[in-house]
Amino acid sequence: MKCVYSVILPVFNEESCLEDILRRVLHSLDSLQEPYEIICIDDGSTDSSWDIIQSLHKEFPHIKGIKFLRNFGHQNAFYAGIKYCTGEYIALLDADGQDPPEILPQFFAKCREGYDVVYAIREKRKEIIFKRVCYALFYRFYKFIVPFNVPINSGDFSVFNRNVADFLCSLYEKEPFLRGLRSWYGGKQIGIQYERHKRLAGKPKYTLTKLILLAINASITFSKIPLRFISVTGILLSLLSIVCGIYLVLREMLTGADILGWSSTSTLIVFFGGLQLFVLGIIGEYIGNIFDEVKNRPHFLIDQSLGLSTRPPADSNR
Ligand code: UDP
Ligand code: MG
Repeated sequence: MKCVYSVILPVFNEESCLEDILRRVLHSLDSLQEPYEIICIDDGSTDSSWDIIQSLHKEFPHIKGIKFLRNFGHQNAFYAGIKYCTGEYIALLDADGQDPPEILPQFFAKCREGYDVVYAIREKRKEIIFKRVCYALFYRFYKFIVPFNVPINSGDFSVFNRNVADFLCSLYEKEPFLRGLRSWYGGKQIGIQYERHKRLAGKPKYTLTKLILLAINASITFSKIPLRFISVTGILLSLLSIVCGIYLVLREMLTGADILGWSSTSTLIVFFGGLQLFVLGIIGEYIGNIFDEVKNRPHFLIDQSLGLSTRPPADSNR
């Protein structure tokens, strides 16, 4: 029987909430009364998450699993699920209970109405204020630098149709930033507001470093504005130095006063030294990205799989 709905959950050491969330997903999808599958991607967990997936697969064969050889990251985990899912409508959902599976039927219904993408907009975040401020600033900055419409406050939690999934699978990008690619696709998209809950249990697996790397990757893979910022800063500083030069020459000619002292000179050297390193850093990020693309390593490596019709190769998109 053809699978209609696929739900993909990335799992990284979520033993404390995994069973609970999977049972809620099962309950929510049962109400749709059409064939579905739930694909759990174990992103290198070191706790009992994979055992939980295995035992639930025995009880409910439509809970399927992919176990990575090591931790390849949340985005790559979703990406693996998108590659191996067979449904017509696909949902991305975190496995920590922050995205409530109870609203999936509403999302799927909207997608069946003809929307390519139905994304969730976080109405309220039950997270620490520092994280909320960072997210708010990042989304606004991101909206400013990318040349297409990106909804503010929407994460990966979304449902999309097979065309979008096929588009994502056809890409060769080594660091897929899924919510950016989803917006880049365009088509008919709609947002639905929801209240983002606290995680059911356990600690967030996205460390601050991982979040910063994600934000940098999201910015440089979709925008050339940071590079343009370098050119514009260079031009402005050159103009400023010409104006300063003319001023100093005139000042010396007219008043005979000495040039500025060592403290202002050394401040300027430090300032421009720092600026140059910053600018080199931005260029380095782009070069690093090209380096990753050229190496063409797989997005992930699979150790074991459960319930998939064929054993997936390491990563077919090479
Ligand atoms: N996750 C993952 N690999 C990672 C980090 C996180 O698969 O390297 C999963 C994690 O198990 C959870 C989801 O991605 O299901 C979101 O992670 P988390 O809740 O830590 O992120 P946050 O909600 O704090 O952004
Ligand atoms: Mg979370």
